[in-house]
Amino acid sequence: MEFSDIKTELIRITDPDQQQSDIARAAACIRQGGLVVFPTETVYGLGGDATNASSAKKIYAAKGRPSDNPLIIHVASPEDAADYAQLCPTYERLARAFMPGPLTVILPRKQTIPKDTTGGLETVAVRCPVHPVARALIRAAGVPIAAPSANISGKPSPTCARHVAEDMNGRVDFILDGGDCEIGLESTIVAVTGEDRVTLLRPGAITYDALCMVVTHVEIARAVSEKLGDNEKPLSPGMKYRHYAPDAPVVLLDGSDIAALSFLLREQHTHRCAILCYDEEYARLIENVDDHSLLFPIGKAADVASHAKTLFTALREADRAKPDIIYAHLPSKEGLGLALYNRMIRASAHTVLNVD
Ligand code: AMP
Ligand code: MG
Repeated sequence: MEFSDIKTELIRITDPDQQQSDIARAAACIRQGGLVVFPTETVYGLGGDATNASSAKKIYAAKGRPSDNPLIIHVASPEDAADYAQLCPTYERLARAFMPGPLTVILPRKQTIPKDTTGGLETVAVRCPVHPVARALIRAAGVPIAAPSANISGKPSPTCARHVAEDMNGRVDFILDGGDCEIGLESTIVAVTGEDRVTLLRPGAITYDALCMVVTHVEIARAVSEKLGDNEKPLSPGMKYRHYAPDAPVVLLDGSDIAALSFLLREQHTHRCAILCYDEEYARLIENVDDHSLLFPIGKAADVASHAKTLFTALREADRAKPDIIYAHLPSKEGLGLALYNRMIRASAHTVLNVD
């Protein structure tokens, strides 16, 4: 497909209630089989009508994504999922606890969702976002919206409209700019595997501990933090693809903060290295070299929510600086840290260096 002839309209939405005619135009475009990028609390989504096989095909083409990697469908309220998936008491408990919000639940598919949307699977991934622009758009569209992250496949997910435009200008009909995404990492994905039993397929802002408060048996899929063998099949098709990977190699530093800083101060003199650093390290690192364009502060060392929010922007910008190598700290696997860990080990192709 040629994209260059699609004229992309960019609309800034500050208040969906006050901008109902803009939302209505974008919603009509979805209903007519077009593509609309919209903000959510996690990352920007590349949306089309989830009930329309040709919209799903367009999404895959715009993203350059393999069509066996299924799409998440977005609904306006948790109950609406009943039209598209077989609901169960475990879904209802999860919905009551976490929806609307950054949780995706995998359930058996109903016929209303074509296999083109689910990458050929008999299951469907359902999410009800909390972002007011996303909710207004889904409600106005009157259909569930299938939406993967609005990046070209393999690039970091976009967390602001500028990054969306870099990837999607000329490939979609509308980009709704709702500012920076609050969380910055994609939703937590769980598959319901039995009564009161789920498997965590992708960690996100709804943490393992939070899930354990609602569901008795929570298993973590091995691919969340381990490298799978060449012949091993992940439970979520998306996990087999290299993801979030900048052109420059990414190396994660494992060890004490002091040891990591000493290592970085030495490396700055031997390599053109981009560094995703803590705010506390910034002063020492910036004094150490003349080229200040390669430092990307991601927040205070203890502020994991800030690391999550800035990670994808930092990776995109670090990559744009064309460094020889990108260094970042190895995240802890605690709480929201597990989501960061999962994204970082994949960006680095599991390259971890011990600096102690
Ligand atoms: P993205 O759309 O970029 O946020 O990625 C969506 C993720 O959800 C991918 O990793 C998919 O493999 C996963 N996913 C979507 N639907 C299913 C499903 N039915 N079963 C397992 N994983 C799914
Ligand atoms: Mg994605």
